[in-house]
Amino acid sequence: MLGPTLTVNAVFDRAARLFPKQEIVERLDDGSIRQSTYRETLGRAAQLAERLRRAGLQPGDRVATLLWNRTAHLEAYYAIPAVGGVIHTLNLRLNPPDLAHVVNHAEDRFLIVDASLLPVFEAFRDEVRLERVFVVGEPPNGAGYERYDDLLTVGSADVGRERMAPDTPAFLCYTSGTTGRPKGVLWTHGQLAMASLALTSTISFAISRDDCILMSVPMFHVAGWALPYAALLVGARVVMPGPRPHARDMLDLMSGEQATFAAGVPTVWHDIANLMEANPGLWSLSPRLRAVLGGSAAPEALLRRLERLGMTAIHGWGMTEVLLGFQAHVKLDQFPPEERYTWLAKQGLPAPFVEARVVGDDGREAPWDGKSVGELQVRGPWIATSYYLGESAESFHDGWLATGDVAVIDEEGYIKIVDRAKDLIKSGGEWISSLELEAALVEHPAVEEAAVIGVPHERWQERPIALVVVRQGQQATAEELRAFLAERFVKWWLPDKILFVDELAKTSTGKLAKAELRARYRDQVWE
Ligand code: ADP
Repeated sequence: MLGPTLTVNAVFDRAARLFPKQEIVERLDDGSIRQSTYRETLGRAAQLAERLRRAGLQPGDRVATLLWNRTAHLEAYYAIPAVGGVIHTLNLRLNPPDLAHVVNHAEDRFLIVDASLLPVFEAFRDEVRLERVFVVGEPPNGAGYERYDDLLTVGSADVGRERMAPDTPAFLCYTSGTTGRPKGVLWTHGQLAMASLALTSTISFAISRDDCILMSVPMFHVAGWALPYAALLVGARVVMPGPRPHARDMLDLMSGEQATFAAGVPTVWHDIANLMEANPGLWSLSPRLRAVLGGSAAPEALLRRLERLGMTAIHGWGMTEVLLGFQAHVKLDQFPPEERYTWLAKQGLPAPFVEARVVGDDGREAPWDGKSVGELQVRGPWIATSYYLGESAESFHDGWLATGDVAVIDEEGYIKIVDRAKDLIKSGGEWISSLELEAALVEHPAVEEAAVIGVPHERWQERPIALVVVRQGQQATAEELRAFLAERFVKWWLPDKILFVDELAKTSTGKLAKAELRARYRDQVWE
């Protein structure tokens, strides 16, 4: 039996007692930098927790946050579970009807919202019923809001010291809804504690006390990959990027604070690489910087560029339901150096205690031969075994989560995502991987970004087309790009059309919005 110390509270208590002087740096709305310490931040978390309890928060009650990655969000990450509540992070990029849906579905009682995000809240405010709304920053007068800072006046030294069963619910996060209505994933104290411990392992991201962590993964998405817990567990220095962090802000912070760990979707790293190449010498990064790319496939070309710029690239795979999934940098030393990027571009090996299998159309587990494709299924201590309130039960089989990704596993145990099942292009009964074609296209020097989608075709049911954004100051023709692809792919994989576009639609988490692109191009393409 797992005892009552496997909790977020134990992380809270440990960090407050053992590392009170460690720094937390925050970039404020005006771009200035504020320094604080674990002692101050966790002291405020204790005050928030006490206030929530006095406001009548009962065990299991949900408190929503609509916040950028700022210190107040870290306070909420610790304070709400500390008194038995469940923190529900709202994805500030969701559409208002989806936001209203998740608040109502979760039956959130209170909300903590960034003053700068009040317009986002006000777009769905009338559709939800919240008892109290606390504003971080200055709320407008007479709008029924309370000031978050006014709450933090009563301290209680005992907060964070309470112990509870590891299976006490602590955190609720909804998927981004790219495959339908957002669905809730609920994590317990024990799951978050274990995931944060796993993040410190050398067979995961090896988060340590020597790290300076740029908290760049949105804390409203996938519990910030549990990094806000792992960072304080080990007493690392933490940098909060604040509102609307762009690539340039990330670079300023990585360089200014000498960050050793930062994570983001490949698009962000792509922008960072562009900026660094255009401004040599402007930023000087820590030689220890680990750049984690996750959320969508990291092309070999990008991994190579980042390492050329002096970072160590780490490619990871995960999803909301998974929290912490695979990492590709583990065991790389055993391959010849010229193969480094081939392996790093795979999605990697499972985190400790995570298991993966690929299940073919016949329902059987596929062999680890690097060829047999099927649906990727995963299970592990922090991986969801149901959705909140039991929706979509078909995604779960005997403790395994069916991910909706199509993958292969090779003899080394490396998992390679071929595509999302719904993005895989089926041409005449055979499949074509949009991910592989995209990764190849961005290797071309004139290509800034590329999306490959399947569009309906009379004869082949579906055929691939490519949408390409050309790099500034460069030129390319469709023939040239087709010839470039023809060097590596069989003829029937080559996109039937290559269209040049100014930009590509993205989802709320910065990934290519394939469904939207398909809808936009499905009819007009053959005209
Ligand atoms: P959503 O809420 O949109 O489902 P998630 O952020 O949970 O969003 O996305 C999970 C999906 O993102 C995975 O199922 C997978 O298809 C994709 N993904 C994440 N990381 C990678 C990666 N490294 N390579 C390829 N695909 C990835």
